[in-house]
Amino acid sequence: MTDFAKTKSMFSIPAGMIYLNGNSLGPLPKSAQARVAAMMTSEWGEMLITGWNKAGWMGQATRVGDRIAKLIGAQEGHVVVGDTLSIKVYQAVASALELNPDRKVILSDNGNFPTDLYMTDGLIRLLNNGHELRTVNPEDVEAAIDETVAVLLLTEVDYRTGRKHDMKRLTQKAHAAGVITIWDLAHSAGALPIDLSGCNVDFAVGCTYKYLNGGPGAPAFIYVAPRHVDKVRPALSGWLGHKSPFAFDLEYKAGNGIERMRVGTPPVIALAVLEAALDIWDMADIHDVRAKSIALCDLFIKEVEARCPQLILDTPRDGAARGSQVSFRFTDSYAAIQALIAHGVVGDFRAPDTMRFAFTPLYIDEADVLAAVDVMKNVLTNNLWDTAAFKTKSAVT
Ligand SMILES: *Cc1c(COP(=O)(O)O)cnc(C)c1O
Repeated sequence: MTDFAKTKSMFSIPAGMIYLNGNSLGPLPKSAQARVAAMMTSEWGEMLITGWNKAGWMGQATRVGDRIAKLIGAQEGHVVVGDTLSIKVYQAVASALELNPDRKVILSDNGNFPTDLYMTDGLIRLLNNGHELRTVNPEDVEAAIDETVAVLLLTEVDYRTGRKHDMKRLTQKAHAAGVITIWDLAHSAGALPIDLSGCNVDFAVGCTYKYLNGGPGAPAFIYVAPRHVDKVRPALSGWLGHKSPFAFDLEYKAGNGIERMRVGTPPVIALAVLEAALDIWDMADIHDVRAKSIALCDLFIKEVEARCPQLILDTPRDGAARGSQVSFRFTDSYAAIQALIAHGVVGDFRAPDTMRFAFTPLYIDEADVLAAVDVMKNVLTNNLWDTAAFKTKSAVT
């Protein structure tokens, strides 16, 4: 059984703050500061260029990939870390399309995070070969899978509503129609158990700064199924994805297996932080995390509905049908979130009118949920959000 009191003690969260925004940016693992300081002094400071070999910096991308593989049900040696999620989406879509060269449709849903759609659109323009991005309502995805579709590109958990797709069923349906699948795990990795191998997924991508707590700008990851990895031809054919980067060969030859999905020099400092964050994950069982996350979300929904009738639930009530967040709609969601933050409860706003709250058992417990709802009731009942200052939008919401 995961010791959640222990995991909670390993994060640095300011006194008086209830942090319900781990779906956007996880909090700082206390050990990360010392880890980075040690890396700076004894590795970068002392070893300089020899750190690539002596400290093993070059192998970090796949070593860390293997640690993430355990959390997402991937086979060892099939996940690599680097770049941003937007870039990993681009790589996955490009490689997936090449595996299905006679078809032109990329199917997604209109609840997907926009960057996944933007990157696909940019790739389609570059290919200039008649591809089409087709987006349907999330509930209509299953019916839209047919033999014209080349690639199914879905984010498992909707960033706005928390609604969760059925990965196994949709992947099966896609495969029956000859469709290659890409699953974006941005709101799944670290939020719930994932079984990429059991679901027979073709490609998966995700980020590490949300539920995995890797820090702002932490690198993304990509998974390619063993049956494809030696066939895929990377569109972003950078030198570190080459078979032998230090041969400085003028001709590109794809690296072994998942190594080919690397692009350029890895972010070694960011990877040190991510490793510290993953140490905490080594102490947790994702099934315990899921059970507690469902219980915390259920409690939050019950308390908010009883005490804040102004808010309208915008997340599936059934725990199995959602990720690890709860969203409510409210006419002045932006101002309400700013007021909540000013009163110590950190959630976030997503246009047009969603208030999001993530429940992350590694550092959020029942007492936090109850205390957060006390603050929400006060802010909403007394209209504390209704000021010009709280209605002024910042660049990042
Ligand atoms: C958070 C998120 C992203 C962010 O992409 P970056 O390149 O890391 O900024 C992309 N896709 C989804 C589905 C997300 O939730």
